Amino acid sequence: MSTALINLAYLLASVLFILGLKGLAHPRTAVRGNLISALGMLIAVVVTLLDKSIVDYTVILAGLVVGGAIGAVAAVRVPMTAMPEMVALFNGFGGGASTLVAGAALVEAISMSAAVTTDFTVATVFSGLVGSVTFWGSLVAFAKLQGILSGNPILFPGQHALNAVLLISSLAVGGYIVSDPSQTMAYWVLVAIASVLGVLITIPIGGADMPVVISLLNSYSGIAAASTGFVLNNNMLIIAGSLVGASGLILTNIMCKAMNRSLANVLFGGVGGEAAAAGAPSADSVYAGKVKATSAEEVAMLLENARRVIIVPGYGMAVSQAQHQVRQLADLLEARGAEVLYGIHPVAGRMPGHMNVLLAEAKVPYEKLLDMDQVNPLFKETDVAIVIGANDVVNPVARTDPNSPIAGMPILDVDQARTVVIIKRSLSPGFAGIPNPLFAADNALMYFSDGKKALNELIAAVKEL
Ligand code: NDP
Repeated sequence: MSTALINLAYLLASVLFILGLKGLAHPRTAVRGNLISALGMLIAVVVTLLDKSIVDYTVILAGLVVGGAIGAVAAVRVPMTAMPEMVALFNGFGGGASTLVAGAALVEAISMSAAVTTDFTVATVFSGLVGSVTFWGSLVAFAKLQGILSGNPILFPGQHALNAVLLISSLAVGGYIVSDPSQTMAYWVLVAIASVLGVLITIPIGGADMPVVISLLNSYSGIAAASTGFVLNNNMLIIAGSLVGASGLILTNIMCKAMNRSLANVLFGGVGGEAAAAGAPSADSVYAGKVKATSAEEVAMLLENARRVIIVPGYGMAVSQAQHQVRQLADLLEARGAEVLYGIHPVAGRMPGHMNVLLAEAKVPYEKLLDMDQVNPLFKETDVAIVIGANDVVNPVARTDPNSPIAGMPILDVDQARTVVIIKRSLSPGFAGIPNPLFAADNALMYFSDGKKALNELIAAVKEL
């Protein structure tokens, strides 16, 4: 294929990536955006395979079949609630692939006595460093989310100093490779040091902060891929990697803002898990004698005359897969003349956009999904707020206790509604591991049940009215 044709195809693929990313920014266009990006990737892969004068396609085909099969099975079988773990693994594999490809390019160039430029070695070193940190950091993030490693921050004295020593050592080895590229063994020493660094910078981060870390590692995997693009002299990889790097960084920033935390605090603060929860008041002191349980019939009576109802979903709605029942209840209430809206917190659930995806699946109209800034002023004029399996994102201690692990996180102000009904199975804490005084508030009623079961009962009770 002529260079002009190849570059034209790469340009087309890049445009498709950008249009795809734009589509992903809104639930209405997300599916189309995904398809457009996938088409861009198909073009990029096919053109690269045709361009590179490949002698034997057998291994590539085997890789495509095996990798494609694993990806397809994972995509179908992995539950929505385990998506962050899956994304962590994918990021890690991206980083690992960049490390191996850059290393292979260096070894190949040296073994063929090809002229090696400084640009090439600098890019190789950068890929090895960032790729290895991404691979091991992502594996630790995966292990923390899966419960293989404790979700608590793992801290030890001198941790930051050791990390600094590792970073400086890897940069020194990198400098050595740039000065004498023939020492290919040094590349693998760099990879080993960066791997230890990847583990050590991720273990002190608490489980509740893992989504932010995964988003950051996603950005790293893009940066490593872009750098490998320079190693291979492949414009497509440079562009695709840069897009991933930039979008991962933007998402990281959005998530930090949603939790009112600086990135430095997430990375070095050691926040989260039982260690942080230890400073919180005991559940007994918050709840004892103050919690009021309710029933489907009582809630149906409350809803009978409600003019505005706001539904606030959280992780528990995802666990119980209650989104279709939520929609049914909303339809019933709307048919009775009530206005039903949804309050969506940016970190509700276990991945960005988790609630939007589930409610879109149940065909809830997008315009009824209000983000925090839109919905919070409305709670004061809301008759009933129904919280379904949400906990941290409606916990008022974020506003009142500066020592709380969620201090300063903007929350949904459901406590300002006339009555708040909270559907969950028990008084167990949410991800941050702390009690929630909302459950003991005067205007709060606890509906102790699995989310889907409670909604089915509620739907039946409203139909009885
Ligand atoms: P939380 O984790 O705070 O609380 C979820 C609640 O759901 C639990 O208290 C649990 O209570 C309840 N629950 C679990 N299963 C069911 C069920 N079957 N039926 C009914 N309720 C159920 O969730 P939130 O959505 O409020 O907050 C998200 C938290 O997760 C935040 O701390 C956020 O930082 C963190 N996070 C966010 C990610 C993101 O990107 N969105 C990713 C990872 C973490 P009970 O056991 O009593 O039923």
